[in-house]
Amino acid sequence: MTLRKDIRRAWKDGMIIRVEVNHWRTFRYVVVMENMIVFQVTIGCSHCATCQSRVAHVERALDHTGVKSESVLAEEMLFRVFERVEGEDPLVTLGNAMELTLRPVETVPA
Ligand SMILES: [Zn+2]
Repeated sequence: MTLRKDIRRAWKDGMIIRVEVNHWRTFRYVVVMENMIVFQVTIGCSHCATCQSRVAHVERALDHTGVKSESVLAEEMLFRVFERVEGEDPLVTLGNAMELTLRPVETVPA
């Protein structure tokens, strides 16, 4: 509940990074907050084959790395919430946790 508001507020405050993820066809959003980082796993749906494969990858990787993360559905998108590590690049934190390469495209709003 609170997280949805936090995401909206972060969106307004411009603490959102648009990223390229591995070979995924579409960009994702990363929301950076004071104590947490939110990663957008799916785009507006959680049930097509592509979304399912993204979700499966993230779940497998988290099992493997042992990083704790919470799953949140907001605005029909599936997000994963991670603890923010002080002094660490949020994209590195996410990449290590989910075994993905995240390349920043832009900060929104730019
Ligand atoms: Zn889908």
